[in-house]
Amino acid sequence: MRIWDIPPDKLCRNHLLGEHRELHALWSIIINNKKAYSNHPETLRWKDKLRALHLRHEKLVEEMDKRGYNHQSPLDVRFATGSDTQDEFIDSYEKQVKILKEKNCGCSV
Ligand SMILES: [Zn+2]
Ligand SMILES: [Zn+2]
Repeated sequence: MRIWDIPPDKLCRNHLLGEHRELHALWSIIINNKKAYSNHPETLRWKDKLRALHLRHEKLVEEMDKRGYNHQSPLDVRFATGSDTQDEFIDSYEKQVKILKEKNCGCSV
């Protein structure tokens, strides 16, 4: 489970759609207080920042729209509370760029 800190327009199809799917899973874990994944680093860094997670979702959807991918899964904005800024990173931005480069997947990083 990973939410990238990379601008969505740089992500390849797989990484864009994969992150979008995982974001929904993460959102559900947090708003439903699910036990599974509750100690996952990605859960911990977003749980008090649902406004920021909602914004990330909006950015992913904007890019999906641009590319003509279908989106029919809005997030319930009533749960978008807490901070609107994500300032904790699991891997630094540079490390994330390196990880994606090494995958040779089509991400333009
Ligand atoms: Zn969605
Ligand atoms: Zn990629």
